[in-house]
Amino acid sequence: MNNDDFKEVTDTPQDTSVSGSDTNTSDSDKDSDYEDICYICRRPESVAGKMIHIPGKLSICHDCLQKTFNAMTNMSGFSDVNSWFGQLTPGPKNSASDDDNTSDKPSENNNDDKGSNNFTNLTTLDLEDISNLFRGAPPIPENQKLKKRREKKKKKKGLLTDGPVFDIKNIPPPHKIKAALDQYVIGQEKAKKILSVAVYNHYKRVIDSENLLERDDPNDDDIEIEKSNILMIGPTGSGKTYMVKTLAKLLDVPLAITDATTLTEAGYIGDDIESVVSKLLAAADNNVEEAEHGIIFIDEIDKLAKKTSSTNRDINGESVQQGMLKLLEGAEIEVPVGASSKNAMVPMTLVDTTNILFICGGAFPRLTDVIKERLKRSSSIGFVSDLGDEYDDEDDLLSKVTPEDLRKFGFIPEFIGRLPIIATLQELSKEMLINILTKPKNAIIKQYKKLLSLDEVDLEFDRDALEWIAGKAQEKKLGARALRSIIEEYMMDIMYEIPKDPDIGKVTITRDYLEHKGGPKIEMRGDINTLLSI
Ligand code: ADP
Repeated sequence: MNNDDFKEVTDTPQDTSVSGSDTNTSDSDKDSDYEDICYICRRPESVAGKMIHIPGKLSICHDCLQKTFNAMTNMSGFSDVNSWFGQLTPGPKNSASDDDNTSDKPSENNNDDKGSNNFTNLTTLDLEDISNLFRGAPPIPENQKLKKRREKKKKKKGLLTDGPVFDIKNIPPPHKIKAALDQYVIGQEKAKKILSVAVYNHYKRVIDSENLLERDDPNDDDIEIEKSNILMIGPTGSGKTYMVKTLAKLLDVPLAITDATTLTEAGYIGDDIESVVSKLLAAADNNVEEAEHGIIFIDEIDKLAKKTSSTNRDINGESVQQGMLKLLEGAEIEVPVGASSKNAMVPMTLVDTTNILFICGGAFPRLTDVIKERLKRSSSIGFVSDLGDEYDDEDDLLSKVTPEDLRKFGFIPEFIGRLPIIATLQELSKEMLINILTKPKNAIIKQYKKLLSLDEVDLEFDRDALEWIAGKAQEKKLGARALRSIIEEYMMDIMYEIPKDPDIGKVTITRDYLEHKGGPKIEMRGDINTLLSI
């Protein structure tokens, strides 16, 4: 008999014992959150390695299992083994254990019987034998699960599941930023290009200004690169917000999205302008340094246009534009920490907006008229007779916008001056809508395919069907935003019916199904020619 083995085994570490207040929790879901511990040496899974689970809810580590085998081959009689385990597992048998089907038998005899039956021929010993060896020992209480398993690193929610791609301290060149955007945003090539260059320059400027501060070298050239905030103009649902969200995720910078219509001049009902900075601070988990490198997206900026006919004070329009000037330019703003509004109870902190990138977006519905008018006017100079409707059908009129047009639209020159980069987005064509459905990394159809693949069912969409969905979305005039609601309406039935029949192997969505003229094409497993209708 190897005494060393015994010593090692019986040296049960005390620190692994767990207070027994909730020994009766038997929620199996909770189980998986905790580490198993070895029934013999009491080491947790994280120390002893993977456990071998044997019937009777017992776990044994590889080392102890090996030692058990070694000990048994060295032993002359199995009564010793039982007495050994008797030492390790004192206490009465818990007859309430449901799993243990031998629980009616007297525990002592049970151990003896099983032991002598199973160990007469060691070469045929299996895990069942080991488990029998432990029969009669008290069941392992739930609270022997030692500590919570270390949580797997949570994946980022939403569009980018792989985490940040770039580091703003080491900003990649614009073509790489655009290539990353391409994986998510369909079309809008010009806007993606403008945005990539603007973001690249912005963060280069930020790094440069910070280095300048650190170096504090009087010989440094004092050329200061000016801040360049961005104005995005494009129809609703064309991807303005989506592009900014994707960029912020790629760069791993905090992002705050605000609706300009909720902003009012300080002192009036509504959010005062500085609240956008507290939103950003909240998005950065109150980390001022991170917030100062963040992005603020102000949507529906066109609603701030000056109302020409208004006789009342324009608290939502021009005065908000005025109020935003210092924010856009760069100022130290006092914002509440952990709250959205200032009050005496909330601590305040200073956030410098100099390095915050402001992106304003809007649909600017009447802007095309303004542009058209200007173009017609300029083309008519010298050609008075040429006042035709040549610009009426031009679908990319927005890209011809000038600061002058924006002033006409109702923006004050100082405001326009602080948004020097203008990116225009096009209305999404049918082809672009189809691509949005199918191409991006997390395209809607890919998501449904994945859902059904979990039931081992293939999902396909006929080209005709995709065209029909894109056409419907165009009719709704909500851009890509309409796609999801249209698809959801039809996929509801599919997601409900398909799991009913485990023999279904493939579903193809047809135009007939979408037009309520027929059902989807269903193919059964192993018999792909079978066509059925739901
Ligand atoms: P808006 O231009 O009004 O801000 P969004 O960016 O919010 O529109 O677009 C709504 C949704 O439509 C987005 O969440 C995205 O899923 C989808 N989408 C819009 N445009 C595109 C695009 N160009 N590429 C991929 N998806 C898009």
